[in-house]
Amino acid sequence: MNPRFSVVAPVYNEEQLVEKFYQRVRDVMEGLGKSWELVLINDGCRDKSPELMDAIHAQDPEHVVILHFARNFGHQIAITAGMDHARGDAVVVIDSDLQDPPEVIPDLIAKWREGYEVVYAVRAEREGETWFKLFTARLFYRIIQALTDVVIPMEAGDFRLLDRNALEALKRMRERHRFVRAMVSWIGFRQIGVPYKRHARTAGETKYPFRKMFRLALDAITGFSVFPLKLTQWFGMAAVGLGILLALILLVIRLGGAAPLAGQGLTASLVLFMGGVQLLGIGILGEYVGRIYDEIRDRPLYIVREIKRRE
Ligand code: UDP
Ligand code: MG
Repeated sequence: MNPRFSVVAPVYNEEQLVEKFYQRVRDVMEGLGKSWELVLINDGCRDKSPELMDAIHAQDPEHVVILHFARNFGHQIAITAGMDHARGDAVVVIDSDLQDPPEVIPDLIAKWREGYEVVYAVRAEREGETWFKLFTARLFYRIIQALTDVVIPMEAGDFRLLDRNALEALKRMRERHRFVRAMVSWIGFRQIGVPYKRHARTAGETKYPFRKMFRLALDAITGFSVFPLKLTQWFGMAAVGLGILLALILLVIRLGGAAPLAGQGLTASLVLFMGGVQLLGIGILGEYVGRIYDEIRDRPLYIVREIKRRE
């Protein structure tokens, strides 16, 4: 029989936290008095987490499902796999590093019982993040808000509850470059936020260095907007306008009998500028073409090496 609730958590090198995470989730879920499952995704861990996860499954096979990925596919893909395999009527996605407290799950469920199909947890407070992370995160949300039509709530991460209907809608979106929280906005349904306090990491380190954050931002922008392509168009039009203006000025100067405005410096800077604009345009185009190529190959989103689940 399908459980009432599923908790989905991606795990990447969390050997210091995974056991504790399981215990806290178990305590919270047992307190609700309904059937539940915990789907843990081993996203190609390189530490002892996989063995610890198997041990958790062995200890509590009734509740714990483990997906072992064949390699590291990344956080967004890992939560996708977890949602694909979750069977609950309501599915909660949460980080396994205990930055998102499992104790908030009952609050999410309470809103679901009121009839909301998507309940996202909003970080009212954020402990132990660098100013750089906070600043770039803010900047990123502003840019997304300005460039795309989807409204992603500020300060909401991937910690959220999805009703079965909303989840089935989300599961139909199989794009490779995934920015799940915007995809969840895109599907619509009745959505609401619940505030919570996001804790600092107590062990291990972030797996989202700046490089990965940057990729995620690119996925978000290209996945939900063609604005960068339009930008090159505008640049092109502006350059044409300036060119015509310059030609007219030169003509007037010539007709007026004055010495023409010329010189190698001017030519060189114009050539460099135009060359730069064109390469930039090709680069932006390339970003989209590369993504088309990724989609067209139609590879599976992830490869599961092994599933541990009691039938
Ligand atoms: N994670 C994952 N695969 C990755 C990177 C991260 O499954 O390639 C997991 C990680 O174990 C954690 C969650 O995704 O449970 C969020 O990652 P992290 O805590 O490093 O991000 P941050 O909270 O610093 O944004
Ligand atoms: Mg974290």
